[in-house]
Amino acid sequence: MAAITMKNIVKQYGDGFPAVNDVSLDVQDGEFMILVGPSGCGKSTLLRMIVGLEDITAGEMVIGDRVVNKVAPRERNLSMVFQNYALYPHLTVYENIAFPLRLAKTSNEEVQRRVNQTAELLELTEHLERKPANLSGGQRQRVAMGRAIVRQADAFLFDEPLSNLDAKLRGQMRTEISRLQRRLGVTTVYVTHDQTEAMTLGDRVAVLRRGVLQQVGSPRELYEEPVNLFVAGFIGSPSMNFLPASVDGSFLETPLGRFELRDERKIEAVGDRSVVLVGIRPEHFEDVSLVGEEKKARGSIVRAQVDVTEWLGNELYAYVPYEAPEDLAAQLRDLSRELDSDQLRTQAVVALDAASLISPGREAELWIDTTKVHIFDPATGDNLT
Ligand code: ATP
Repeated sequence: MAAITMKNIVKQYGDGFPAVNDVSLDVQDGEFMILVGPSGCGKSTLLRMIVGLEDITAGEMVIGDRVVNKVAPRERNLSMVFQNYALYPHLTVYENIAFPLRLAKTSNEEVQRRVNQTAELLELTEHLERKPANLSGGQRQRVAMGRAIVRQADAFLFDEPLSNLDAKLRGQMRTEISRLQRRLGVTTVYVTHDQTEAMTLGDRVAVLRRGVLQQVGSPRELYEEPVNLFVAGFIGSPSMNFLPASVDGSFLETPLGRFELRDERKIEAVGDRSVVLVGIRPEHFEDVSLVGEEKKARGSIVRAQVDVTEWLGNELYAYVPYEAPEDLAAQLRDLSRELDSDQLRTQAVVALDAASLISPGREAELWIDTTKVHIFDPATGDNLT
């Protein structure tokens, strides 16, 4: 096993902006690190540079105590599982798993021992004589994983290994990968664009955007303390609501109504700005009729016109359309370099207790837990709270 250290890694293809731009990241020995971000953010490129399938334009890649910038892929002792888990169709499951050992000229006896052990771990023992065509998608995925772990590699690298599977199987495989990684304790780097996968699998998650590392932290840190608008909007589903707000002392005037910040730290964060963006997670709203007096006192109440509700059994989503005053919206557009246009939605999504009787087409009173709101600088996108 080995730690992986990336120091100021850059990848430049042609003259455009760099695909990976000055990324420094430490993956500790035995750690499960997720690289996540939207399509094109550079996460696969970074993974390919770790494995050695892509040259490094600048910076240093260290695996264990070796700088590997110029080391050939097969000499890095890493194991990679790709998206399209290419299995050899003419070989049995046994031979597919044995393949890397055969390449390394391992003795037959050792091959047998390792393949059997791996098959047991992945519950593939009874399928060892089958060909890939006769396996389910999940079983094929497990064979691909078996092939990766049969060798004693220093680290495992996964490039969106579950993206070809249906939602149910993806959920199952997620738990299996998680269990397997914990049992083997091998350093793992896992690329995905799916924030749910990122949040559920990793010890730590690194969020990338346009080649630049935005934040690295535990899933909880990213969720509760996102450093900027991008991370706040990317992590969490349904995603955080961002409301433009004009500032009036400790009061914020938002399209959903006026509310007070009672927390000194948040008031300080607003400073002397006249316009901010308020970030409120859907679950930090509640139907006011379900909130006790004590709790009510630490938040604020707004009136909202709900146009659609979705009852999911364990919670109720309510959609509240709003219009940002044109002058505020225009001011924000001018100020903002960080906002993607769809982040200034014109509806808020609120996740209420399933017992709520709020219904579409009616005005509702919503309580906001103002101790949990985030305040963003509209010019830089930085989280000020
Ligand atoms: P996806 O989830 O869509 O795979 P990604 O985050 O993994 O996206 P990369 O594949 O790493 O993104 O690509 C990062 C950027 O580098 C993209 O803008 C992409 O177009 C560009 N890029 C990737 N490979 C090459 C290449 N061989 N030549 C030129 N540009 C490339």
